[in-house]
Amino acid sequence: MRAYNVFRSQAALAGRMVRNGPASLTQKRFLSIHEYRSMEQLNKHGINTPKFLPATSADEAFAAAKKFDGKPVVIKAQVLAGGRGKGHFDNGLQGGVHLVKTPEEVRDLAQKMIGSKLITKQTGEAGRICNAVMIAEARAPAHEYYAAILNDRVTQLPILIASNQGGMSIEDVAKENPDAIITTPIDYTKGLDLKTAQEIAHKLGFSSEKLEKQAAETFVNLYKLFDEKDATQVEINPLVETKDGQVLCLDAKLGFDENAEFRQKEVFDLRDISQEDPSEVEAGKYGLNFIKLDGNIGCLVNGAGLAMATLDVLSLNGGKPANFLDVGGGANAAAVKKAFELLLGSKDVRAIFVNIFGGIMRCDVIAEGIIQATKELDLKIPLVVRLQGTKEAEAKKLIKESNLKIFAFDNLDEAAKAAVDKAHTQQ
Ligand code: GDP
Ligand code: MN
Repeated sequence: MRAYNVFRSQAALAGRMVRNGPASLTQKRFLSIHEYRSMEQLNKHGINTPKFLPATSADEAFAAAKKFDGKPVVIKAQVLAGGRGKGHFDNGLQGGVHLVKTPEEVRDLAQKMIGSKLITKQTGEAGRICNAVMIAEARAPAHEYYAAILNDRVTQLPILIASNQGGMSIEDVAKENPDAIITTPIDYTKGLDLKTAQEIAHKLGFSSEKLEKQAAETFVNLYKLFDEKDATQVEINPLVETKDGQVLCLDAKLGFDENAEFRQKEVFDLRDISQEDPSEVEAGKYGLNFIKLDGNIGCLVNGAGLAMATLDVLSLNGGKPANFLDVGGGANAAAVKKAFELLLGSKDVRAIFVNIFGGIMRCDVIAEGIIQATKELDLKIPLVVRLQGTKEAEAKKLIKESNLKIFAFDNLDEAAKAAVDKAHTQQ
């Protein structure tokens, strides 16, 4: 039974990778910022949110809560992941979003949240550390809507996605009630005009003309923010109309294009690396493109395309990659050694697969790095290597003369098969 399950999940993984590439690769080129930072950006762009204050300790949260004139507030874990409301903390506390009445309750909840990990359907089992909370004025929603601006592959334009079924996961709405989602492509030279925005707001069914107008202005300003800040994602869920007649963003998730870092310093200064995987941060310092996956074959490859292909070939051979790692075109022996350290840093890794196509990158430089790393790091797991291209012969000679137990191949499929076999037999 177990063998069948393993087989089935690997087949599913292989199928998904062949179609889409590894799922976890897609979001890593974007900077995400915390909700309270996102709300500051919204306010700067004339978009309404409830009043809010961040806090990084229980005492600070207590003091912040007292500034809301005795009105009810919400306390929200500042963790870079969606689904906080329905998440739970590693200490057992249910929910990353709580509606509370007194500053004392805020202090107690902040005490439990700060320093603990919040687990949501987006974080995986490990969860993410909560180092701050946001205290916001609680508002009574009369209705919850959804609004997002994203880049759309199909139209190759930014699109506004809006729905009157907000507050829940938009993926569920898309599945169960696709007609409730209005998608509007935006001409990026003209932006979103107020008339179009107003038509969308009208279709969504805001309960008065005044609210419709406020919603339309919100959409226009959300697009301006998206455009001016090189955002890749502006997602408001929920966008609400309140019982006292206001349109407000109760939650905000902003993502930004990392290629725009050079001209968006103000935004990129808001990066919080405590929310990122430490090994991925470390890799970044060495110019390595490293993303953890959940398999057991450590991969070291040059070039993102070849790295993706390598993951596919391993999957097709029934293996599970432990990571995506592109050492780039200019890696030196030190970077290769660092790469090995990162691969070996995971207790799950049972075999290492090096797949290098030497173009600008010379195979002998890689071989030197491998040999150095193998000796210095006392490598105990099998190492399968495929080197082709520039200085291939020199590289092979180096490996041979090193007398290290390295399994060398020319053919990619054979090499992948060997890596999969060795990972299996090491279990
Ligand atoms: P997420 O779960 O990470 O998306 O966090 P949200 O900030 O969206 O909070 C989860 C849910 O809490 C929202 O969908 C709202 O339904 C609810 N919520 C958030 N702020 C308020 C508020 O001020 N008043 C009320 N009544 N509900 C709120
Ligand atoms: Mn939300």
